[in-house]
Amino acid sequence: MRLRLTSSLLIAALAVSSWAQTGWNRYSVEVRNDADAQRLADSDLGIFSCHIHRGRTDIIVGPGEFPKLWSLRMPYRWVGVLPDPRGWDQRPQPATLNYRTQYYNYDQIIGQYEEWRLQNLRYVTRFQIGTSVQGRPIWAYRLFQSTRKRPEEQSFVVNFGIHAREWISPASGLHIFRKLLDGMTTDPAAIKPIIPGTAYYFIPVMNPDGYAYTWSTNRMWRKNRRPNSGGSFGVDLNRNFSKGWGGSGSSSNQSSETYRGTAALSEPESQALVNLVNNISPVAAFIDYHSYGEYVLWAWGYTATASPGETWLRQTGTAMRDGIAGQHAHNYTIGATGPTLYLASGVTPDYMYDRFNAAAYTIELRDKGQFGFILPENQISDTQDEAWQGFRALSQRILDR
Ligand SMILES: [Zn+2]
Repeated sequence: MRLRLTSSLLIAALAVSSWAQTGWNRYSVEVRNDADAQRLADSDLGIFSCHIHRGRTDIIVGPGEFPKLWSLRMPYRWVGVLPDPRGWDQRPQPATLNYRTQYYNYDQIIGQYEEWRLQNLRYVTRFQIGTSVQGRPIWAYRLFQSTRKRPEEQSFVVNFGIHAREWISPASGLHIFRKLLDGMTTDPAAIKPIIPGTAYYFIPVMNPDGYAYTWSTNRMWRKNRRPNSGGSFGVDLNRNFSKGWGGSGSSSNQSSETYRGTAALSEPESQALVNLVNNISPVAAFIDYHSYGEYVLWAWGYTATASPGETWLRQTGTAMRDGIAGQHAHNYTIGATGPTLYLASGVTPDYMYDRFNAAAYTIELRDKGQFGFILPENQISDTQDEAWQGFRALSQRILDR
């Protein structure tokens, strides 16, 4: 009887296994402790999430990968089938472009910024801050209201698309940039606050190779497109920064989604952001936009210990959460990254906070998990509104400081 039960379980398992391997599936894994979290960070399996979370983290099981799920030896359940990750650039697009209702590919994003720059040369300048692994330029746009005859005293840096598949991030950059530009050119009262003496620096797509790859080849791609020595591709740029580099929540496994690279700042895309902040006024504020989960997060990521600025950072995070919730009643969760989710070492806000004492935040945009980073286009505009409100609340806090 016992033998029969075992063999029927085995048959059921094989049936599930062969069926699951035909497509792309999403599973939820129970992360019981920090050891589980680190095992997941070191795994070859795709993470269907921006961060690994204590509690539960969703993962991607592609064709042939089911045995890897077994070998994790962690409790899991099936969530659903994922869309085919290939050929998203072949999908039909409407004839009229609108960044509020559709996702733009890389050329369309830079093209939109260029149109706005050329129409507003008095306020907008563009410069190249680096070149990606595959040779694409990494652009930054500077927005500055020089009419006050006040020089640039400090900077507010906003970064988009460090993780390739989080398409709502670059989409939100377009909206925030346009709102600020409107405030400077036509309607200052409606857009306030614009912080006097502050230059705004936008990196529209920090990881252009990865972003292009999500359109052409694999919608699920997260990292850059570095060819690694072992034959795999990609470094997680948000584990490649120098503060806390090499610690928990990053991996030395080249195939891992959280592979940290061979050294701190080994990647040209990471160097580009450092190059930018080396050549501008001190960074007073920094936001790195990601998806998904609906979080406002701050330092530290690399340790669960509270940062010296915890009180002010939490008050500001609360103001950002309240501003966001006032828009469409979505309640974002706030907290320091390490204690709130799980450790993440070598991340951009830790770098900016450590180096400049900047008000440095990660905002994880929509949703809370239903669609994840395959966020439907009918949620773009509402999410952009929330991204703007988070930005605006932080600006107000900088102004009041
Ligand atoms: Zn991310």
